[in-house]
Amino acid sequence: MLIDSHAHLNFKAFKDDLADVIKRCDEIGMKVINIGAAFDTSQRAVVLASEQENFYASIGLHPIHVYDEEFDAKKFQDLINEKVVAVGETGFDYFHLWQALEKHNKSVEEVKQKQEKLFRDHIKLAKDNDLPLIVHGRNGKDDPNAYRDIYNVLKDEKVNRGVIHCYGGNLEEAKQFVDLGFHLGFTGIITFDKTETLREIAKWIPLDKMLIETDAPYLAPVPFRGKRNEPSYVQYVAKQIASLRAETEDEIVDITAKNANKLFNLK
Ligand SMILES: [Zn+2]
Repeated sequence: MLIDSHAHLNFKAFKDDLADVIKRCDEIGMKVINIGAAFDTSQRAVVLASEQENFYASIGLHPIHVYDEEFDAKKFQDLINEKVVAVGETGFDYFHLWQALEKHNKSVEEVKQKQEKLFRDHIKLAKDNDLPLIVHGRNGKDDPNAYRDIYNVLKDEKVNRGVIHCYGGNLEEAKQFVDLGFHLGFTGIITFDKTETLREIAKWIPLDKMLIETDAPYLAPVPFRGKRNEPSYVQYVAKQIASLRAETEDEIVDITAKNANKLFNLK
């Protein structure tokens, strides 16, 4: 069974034809974890999970939204039920820092500290509920330290259960995360040109630490690049990884499904 471990069918991009997208998921018989990025989209992910047997939810406040709303841990706690299988996405985003700088008149250091505070709050929520963590990292154009900083917080908090979704660090950092016990999530980016580092990491990664995801509506794989992404396209990520490794496409699908079922305890 195919599993998309990171999608956002809870986002506006799907408001007009969600039923059709869900139908295409059902036709393949796949599972989907929808990820919240703010309180309202977390709530929406939980509703979708309650309506669809094969849908699950993760709840959190994305690092690019740390100034858009207060992170109210109690409110998020109240969302948690048996279909909520993770906390996040949370972490460090140094790519969109300038937005916070301009919009909220903050310094780089202030934004980073705020992201760190919220990252640690999410870790607490995950620990309190014995849930894995969905971590978002993105380096800035001239700031390659997002993954290093994520690693330091995870190590400091002694967290070992979760995924670094849409992994975009280097091989050395990938090894550190895997040593901690973390999984790495691969998206359609691996089907794009000029992604040698990512391909090296996909060749190297131990099978039991590999997850596949779409990050839909973003990052549609080739041959849909530039279009709106959807969970059924996660097949193309599996295909691309298989082309780099000894395993077949079916084996990659099976192994990543097994990993997702285990990590997120999907029923
Ligand atoms: Zn995402």
